[in-house]
Amino acid sequence: MAGGGDKVDYVFKVVLIGDSAVGKSQILARFARNEFSLDSKATIGVEFQTRTLVIEHKSVKAQIWDTAGQERQVPSLSAFRRSDHGGYRAVTSAYYRGALGALLVYDITKRQSFDHIPRWLDELRGHADKNIVIMLVGNKSDLEEERAVSTEDAKEFAEKENLFFLETSALQATNVENAFQTVLTEIFKIHS
Ligand code: GDP
Ligand code: MG
Repeated sequence: MAGGGDKVDYVFKVVLIGDSAVGKSQILARFARNEFSLDSKATIGVEFQTRTLVIEHKSVKAQIWDTAGQERQVPSLSAFRRSDHGGYRAVTSAYYRGALGALLVYDITKRQSFDHIPRWLDELRGHADKNIVIMLVGNKSDLEEERAVSTEDAKEFAEKENLFFLETSALQATNVENAFQTVLTEIFKIHS
């Protein structure tokens, strides 16, 4: 518990983005409830979960948004053009509105999920706060024998784009805490 009752000093919104099935919902389940499910259902619509932690003696409530659904597949150039009208932009804007941090997730065993990262980054940079703190996350690090994206490639991309980078396993609870802590601490430095 945050010392001194349930006073919350800060609420920081963080969004999870990336292709379907990379493990976004399980990363969130691990962080928010310390749970994991191997047969997790595809997320319908948008939801968020919260967890309160202490950063530099302040109580920080992390509000982590997770989404999926037909309206949020891999962003494409045509989706960007469509976004000038219609519902796509409304949903997307609501999702990113007020977000101070993002976990940009791919699956280390699915090359395509890494190849789509630049599109997610474009969408993010097109909609979010310009100071948004972004962590590139290579999830499923427990599946080393199925690895399709090298740590070096991802690290190089992250450096080029000025992103934090970690490989995680929601299954084994590796680096999930670290990923959120790093993003939230950086947000704290910028906004406190
Ligand atoms: P989302 O669509 O990005 O929200 O992905 P989910 O969280 O629903 O996960 C998709 C599938 O990958 C599920 O079967 C999860 O159990 C599995 N999964 C998620 N994280 C991990 C992980 O770290 N390791 C392994 N081996 N499987 C994972
Ligand atoms: Mg999901």
